[in-house]
Amino acid sequence: MKLSLNSQIFLGALLGVLLGLGFARLGPASDITRNGTYVCGLLGELFIDVLKMVLVPLVFTSIACGVANLRQHEQMHRVWTTTLGFFVLSMVLSILVGLSAANIFEPGKGLNLDLFHDAMSHFDVKQMSLPEFISKFIHGLFVNPFAALAQANVLAIVIFALLLGIALVLGGERYRNILVLLQEGLELILQMVGWIMRLAPIGIMALLAQLVANQNTELLGSLAQFVVVVLGSILLHGFVLLPLVLYLITGKKPLQFFRGAREALVTAFATSSSSATLPVTLRCAEQHLHVKPEIAGFVIPLGATLNMDGTALYEAAAALFVANLAGVELNLVQQFIVLFTSMMAAIGAPGIPSAGMVTMVLVLQSVGLPVEAIAVLLPIDRLLDTFRTMVNVEGDMIGSLVVQKLVSRKP
Ligand code: ASP
Repeated sequence: MKLSLNSQIFLGALLGVLLGLGFARLGPASDITRNGTYVCGLLGELFIDVLKMVLVPLVFTSIACGVANLRQHEQMHRVWTTTLGFFVLSMVLSILVGLSAANIFEPGKGLNLDLFHDAMSHFDVKQMSLPEFISKFIHGLFVNPFAALAQANVLAIVIFALLLGIALVLGGERYRNILVLLQEGLELILQMVGWIMRLAPIGIMALLAQLVANQNTELLGSLAQFVVVVLGSILLHGFVLLPLVLYLITGKKPLQFFRGAREALVTAFATSSSSATLPVTLRCAEQHLHVKPEIAGFVIPLGATLNMDGTALYEAAAALFVANLAGVELNLVQQFIVLFTSMMAAIGAPGIPSAGMVTMVLVLQSVGLPVEAIAVLLPIDRLLDTFRTMVNVEGDMIGSLVVQKLVSRKP
């Protein structure tokens, strides 16, 4: 009997967790754990490397072709506005969930910031004001395309490919050959993504084994209340609210969606990187969820860097957690500032592991909270990153389905 790829991936994930628990049980001093985590580290990195290998050509060709095809159908404007509108609204919804949960359960109230003094005093943060952050973000949009391609700067590649796609359509017949070349290039890369997916079960097993083996359970215990509040609200947003929005707008049943999206969700969970998962996300959206390539090719790569529901929720909840630790009460206006800056911080965070941690400086600073407190959250970040990345990627796939539905309606 031959197992389907989906079942293999699930089996891989399960085995990875069991293996990780085994390593953790044997302890870091044991030879088996040392060698085992070394091999798992190698295999996991290899899987991420091959995904990253196809990422840049995939983003470039899929956006350029997607835009070129949209323009031909004169839908570009509606797709743009609906996509950005969906991104903003879904992030606001997720932040509201995070803020409400943090207000109700007040994680960190009993704890004291002094307890973490040691960790914080060794932590060096770069200050970053909101205007500085915004100007850095805007400067990052328009970059020499060769530099952007070489540095895998996804957002800058998206912008350049977008302009190229528009120029291709305006140029019409004259540049037909270039468009055909890009289209065929895209097909070839997707073919390679198909091969890479065969490695997914092993890659995911290795990544999860290493993650579980390296968890610091002691620290998890002391921050348990915060971890539960964040995970609970991320799961509520990802498994109840987002599917509900999807169902109300498109009529697609949640189970049907998760069946089509699971390869990407598990990959996002294991890699903690929306960018590395992008090839898989695109494949799921087009092949399993039947989003038209021109819509998926536009919404998914853009969403991988801009649309991060999980990250936005986390940043807001973490700000309230730090406020509780510091014994500061944030009023409604301050919480509104947290909402806004959390969204900016999530938009500005690249789709790589722990990126949200870096941009959180912005949120804490905006309401005068001690930025060094990030040190308290660092040890549990790897675990929380898995869930928030999964919901980030889920939001992109739901976004592509919603946009497809809304632009297909007659105005
Ligand atoms: N790891 C997340 C992502 O790639 C970003 C973050 O929240 O750190 O989507």
